[in-house]
Amino acid sequence: MTRFSARLPAGILLCGLAPFMSLHADEQALYAIGVAPSAERIQNDIEILAGFGTRHTLSDTQSQTRGIGAARRWIEAEFEAISAACGGCLEVMLISDIVSGTNRIPGSVEVVNVIAIQRGTTEPNRFAMMSGDIDTRVSDPMNFTDDSPGANDNASGMAGVLEAARVLTQYEFPGSIIYAGLSGEEQGLNGGAIVAAHALANGWDIKAVINNDMIGNIRGINGVVNNTTARVFSEGTRYVETPEEAQQRRFQGGEIDSAARNLARYIDTMADLYVPNLDVMMVYRLDRFGRGGHHRPFSEVGLPAVRIMETNENYNWQHQDIRVENGIAYGDVIEHVDFDYAAKLTALNAVTLASLAWAPSPPQNVEVSGQVSPDTTLRWTKVPDAVAYRVHWRLTTEPQWTHFRTTEDVSEFTLENVVIDNYFFGVSSISASGVQSPVVFPGPAGAF
Ligand SMILES: [Zn+2]
Repeated sequence: MTRFSARLPAGILLCGLAPFMSLHADEQALYAIGVAPSAERIQNDIEILAGFGTRHTLSDTQSQTRGIGAARRWIEAEFEAISAACGGCLEVMLISDIVSGTNRIPGSVEVVNVIAIQRGTTEPNRFAMMSGDIDTRVSDPMNFTDDSPGANDNASGMAGVLEAARVLTQYEFPGSIIYAGLSGEEQGLNGGAIVAAHALANGWDIKAVINNDMIGNIRGINGVVNNTTARVFSEGTRYVETPEEAQQRRFQGGEIDSAARNLARYIDTMADLYVPNLDVMMVYRLDRFGRGGHHRPFSEVGLPAVRIMETNENYNWQHQDIRVENGIAYGDVIEHVDFDYAAKLTALNAVTLASLAWAPSPPQNVEVSGQVSPDTTLRWTKVPDAVAYRVHWRLTTEPQWTHFRTTEDVSEFTLENVVIDNYFFGVSSISASGVQSPVVFPGPAGAF
């Protein structure tokens, strides 16, 4: 297939600043990406993953047909095949470490993550990441031998990652994209911690982690059937915050404006713009009540990380031995996965990754000032490839950014007669082709 370049001639540049923006190549591409993921290919991938019998982190690694070893080798081969189809555009690697002596890994096991990087053309070290999980479990989290197909939890997320890679490798981006299959999720979020540590150690500038954990169920435990919404979970305040930063946040705000939260707002906007018949329910918490997911290890090292998942879970169909009890069929089997819905949530990921990778980096060092004055001033450090910036504001009770003013290629802008006390403020960057970064809330509370 043809590879489209995101780069546009400079002559198109000013259109991005017009009050009524005309469509640009990147925007047209985002519409195409929003409907590109294939339910059939996702179904095929989930069938293959479920077909490995169990993918428990402690399961067999030698068999070619059963266990997590066979599963991760298949994922690696699939990334290599996707790469071969785009002229070698993916760097496929294993990032692993030994985990031992934990609650759910009492012995010792090598937790192996399978990673593919689509390297950016101008900012190769700036990343947006999409992840799913390789591993599965049944009722007893230590049972690594019984059948544990994990069709929804989380072959759906893993298949989404592979399909997003197939779609997005048809394009080129200034920024890099990481496609990640993580292991050890059910045993203690081990794989995510390993990749997060690797990213820090290697100086990867990760601006967004979008973890997918269960994106294929539309029939809730409460009887609701719904294929038109997705949940995006995001932390409100950064987990990594010094006492001084917390003090600054207390007086300047930022409790609901971490980078993760503004990433969630960005994803919500992507759904509205580019994914037909899908709306995002932003959930203002790190994860489901008392439960975990693989975005958390990234939050814990200070990276903007969110979880995308189905709106309606069915607890009979996750973490369960496959059985019938009192007339109820338990188990995470493929019959319960809605592939069209999984494709739609994959599309949400794909348009978000593409937009993040086409957009410039979010503005850095954003500051706001203006107390006891009628005006509010935003200042920021310019970022590469931005040709304009946009200053945003909203009432403090609004969930989404409601007002904006587009600026030229400046590093400071004053909003006249907008009183600082009554609104929250932020700044985004805009590329030559009109693609926008997430909005950055001022100070360390909102920094990307
Ligand atoms: Zn699970």
